[in-house]
Amino acid sequence: MLVLKFGGTSVGSPEAMQQVVDLAAASTEPGTVLVLSAMAGITNALISGAEAALKRDLDAALSRLNEIRSTHHRTIKTLFGASPTAEELLNTIDARLDELAILYKGVSYLGELTKRSLDAVSGIGELLSSGIVAALAAQKGLPASWVDARQFMITDDTFGRANPLWSELTPRTEAAIRPLTDAGRIVFTQGFIGSTAYGASTTLGRGGSDFSASIIGVALNATEIQIWTDVDGMMTADPRVVSDARVIPEASFQEASELAYFGAKVLHPLTIKPAVEKNIPVRILNTMRPDQKGTLIKSHIEATAETIRAVAAKKGITAIFIDSPRMLMAHGFLAKVFAIFERHHTAIDLISTSEVSISLTIDDRTNLAELSADLSEHGEVRIADDLAIVSVVGRQFREQNGIAGRVFDTLRDINIVMISGGASDINLSFVVARADADRAVRQLHAEFFH
Ligand code: ADP
Ligand code: ASP
Ligand code: MG
Repeated sequence: MLVLKFGGTSVGSPEAMQQVVDLAAASTEPGTVLVLSAMAGITNALISGAEAALKRDLDAALSRLNEIRSTHHRTIKTLFGASPTAEELLNTIDARLDELAILYKGVSYLGELTKRSLDAVSGIGELLSSGIVAALAAQKGLPASWVDARQFMITDDTFGRANPLWSELTPRTEAAIRPLTDAGRIVFTQGFIGSTAYGASTTLGRGGSDFSASIIGVALNATEIQIWTDVDGMMTADPRVVSDARVIPEASFQEASELAYFGAKVLHPLTIKPAVEKNIPVRILNTMRPDQKGTLIKSHIEATAETIRAVAAKKGITAIFIDSPRMLMAHGFLAKVFAIFERHHTAIDLISTSEVSISLTIDDRTNLAELSADLSEHGEVRIADDLAIVSVVGRQFREQNGIAGRVFDTLRDINIVMISGGASDINLSFVVARADADRAVRQLHAEFFH
């Protein structure tokens, strides 16, 4: 069993969709499942329509909807001409967009956009794109079956970033997909979306189609999970920031997780976790350059010469500084602070402490006001916005001299807001102003990779 996930650009045009179907046809593995994203830009358009509706600008919302409609209509007409298949697809798409119009109207009349409604809206793009690609495969003579992921991807009801419910979804995934692949069919389904046990639509969080693919791969015990995207693999830095970034041919599960977590957008941060548990290799490949080797991510990789493997940046970070002179020599201070983050369901990324102060970073500001109010009971709280975490991921940092020296010497001209080093043997992370992040990444990449 092979799970192939195709991202937004990989299904973003008629040509790209043709290529996806060709790659599916070339798969020789018995049992192939394709997990598809929405066409590039569509999830953003769906969400911006909902935001316009919330501001009671229904015209703007409906004009987003019409742009979404014309993108899909154009794609269908290019691929299928004026055929019965085209007719059928256009009708299906229009029916889904009619539902979207009802959702937008509801949001605008009520002046309320719950996370639950937003999930119902933002997941529509995957349903649209996957229908077109499955029909294209069928037209090319492939035994294609379209399956609605909400039948089997059962999650909790943390709308906006729902968590998989393994005990429910594993048997359901088996039941929905295995009989089809056993009968020699190629399954086309959606990434990103799921459903609660009681049938409400959920999403796994932005960029979550990678995570869907790994969940499906694990549920079906796949031999490999392939993430097909628009770059040649996981690279030494984001190629949009560093023009001479290089592909990393092999990475360990741990390295890939750290990189994904600290900003390498090519992989959703949660993708690797399920794969590790079943030891399923994950490969990152370029849809438009399938002859390239890509990156193979697996449990153990051969030792390589380089100490530094990649540089990444994660933007949109908020730092919280808590100063509490009262806490001098008192125990239990950290425990109290952590309990507050726990209570407000906010994950901490980096942390650095001294006797009387704590600095930490978060990327989810949803509950920031409440967090800050509760923290204020324990000390003076200061918040800094618009920051970025820059991370250098490598090997055996604790055993090597001079890495931190080289890193910070390279960044002499950049203000470092906070440093968190030594927690992991393979990662050195620090915080800078968001505006400095790309420059920091470029300078570090030049220092370590030239
Ligand atoms: P998809 O729609 O296929 O899921 P994404 O846009 O989510 O694609 O992820 C691919 C993008 O990730 C690339 O175009 C690249 O700009 C960005 N990226 C960031 N860091 C890295 C990295 N270290 N290696 C490769 N790509 C990266
Ligand atoms: N379409 C979703 C997003 O844009 C999920 C994905 O592409 O991974 O976030
Ligand atoms: Mg992605």
